[in-house]
Amino acid sequence: MLTVNAYAAPSASEALIPTTLERRDVGAHDVLIEIKYAGICHSDIHTVRGDWGPQSYPLAPGHEIAGIVTEIGPEVTRHKVGDRVGVGCMVNSCGECENCRKGEEQYCLKGMTGTYGAVDRDGTITQGGYSTHVVVAEDFVVRIPEGIALDAAAPLLCAGITTYSPLRHWGAAPGKRVAVVGLGGLGHMAVKLAHAMGAEVTVLSQSLKKMEDGLRLGADHYFATSDPVTFEELAGTFDLIINTVSAPIDISSYLQLLSLDGALVNVGAPAEPLPVNVFSLITGRRSFAGSAIGGIRETQEMLDFCAEHGLGAEIEVIPADKINDAYERVLASDVRYRFVIDTSTLG
Ligand code: NAP
Ligand code: ZN
Repeated sequence: MLTVNAYAAPSASEALIPTTLERRDVGAHDVLIEIKYAGICHSDIHTVRGDWGPQSYPLAPGHEIAGIVTEIGPEVTRHKVGDRVGVGCMVNSCGECENCRKGEEQYCLKGMTGTYGAVDRDGTITQGGYSTHVVVAEDFVVRIPEGIALDAAAPLLCAGITTYSPLRHWGAAPGKRVAVVGLGGLGHMAVKLAHAMGAEVTVLSQSLKKMEDGLRLGADHYFATSDPVTFEELAGTFDLIINTVSAPIDISSYLQLLSLDGALVNVGAPAEPLPVNVFSLITGRRSFAGSAIGGIRETQEMLDFCAEHGLGAEIEVIPADKINDAYERVLASDVRYRFVIDTSTLG
């Protein structure tokens, strides 16, 4: 066992505090990673605050992990000591079900093992990346290409893959009109990625405050959803809408912005149900869909795509003692565009 420094929530209603965690011994197929940076995803906040259901505490979140391999198990073949690597939202899956065999481990029929707050194979509760080290099965560790700095790479492990996967699945490409709802962590990556895939990109944000940024990140158009004229002007426009909003929004009015056969894909995961007026679907043969992160193979493909296109996340690197302040800023939609913890400040 290795005792490591971390930041964890003692309960759903308390601020995160410095603590230590036990990491398991490096098994035959495991790698030990010295974590350099960990992104703060809105899912961390939903989870530790109990939005998605009760948790086991103390809980150290963090599933946007970038670091260096410092030890490998005797059977490891995919990684070696010194490699720059990343870990995203899952650290295991059954490996045998239909979905795992397709490389869609995030949809494992037996349930993938989340990077934190999940029951691991040995019965312990997984603890995430707000810590200095983690031990992970080699198959759930991806390679970070040399061209991407580790701090800007960390958010790609969740925000990057969660937007890359539906953009690919629903065919973002030249000639396709893609809208991104919410310009936060996921949203800003969706804009960069959809632009790099050649799509015509529109941001739908609550206000025009971040318009300059949105256009710089690769958007062709930018509209405020607080202005009702937006919904009239853009009716029937988009082939694909990626909704990244962490709170409930009026889905039916966004469905009306889809063209014939268009799809609105929810990646945002508010705790509350999102009611849909079916007429907004049947009047344009439209689809309302969802998507969860991406498989390991696709996560590697996304990282390689980002390196090839010179993409990383727009980040604000913070020391560990600013984590709780960062949470408040994320909740206030005051993030430009991902907070990343420098884990050397964990003590
Ligand atoms: P984030 O950085 O907080 O971004 C969310 C953005 O949504 C905000 O920046 C804001 O953008 C907009 N927004 C927030 N509250 C709103 C409201 N009440 N009405 C309208 N717009 C609002 O969060 P994130 O880390 O990108 O995560 C977004 C969501 O995706 C979370 O629910 C998270 O749990 C979920 N998620 C899902 C997956 C998956 O696999 N499906 C993976 C990761 C995260 P504007 O200021 O531009 O309006
Ligand atoms: Zn996430």
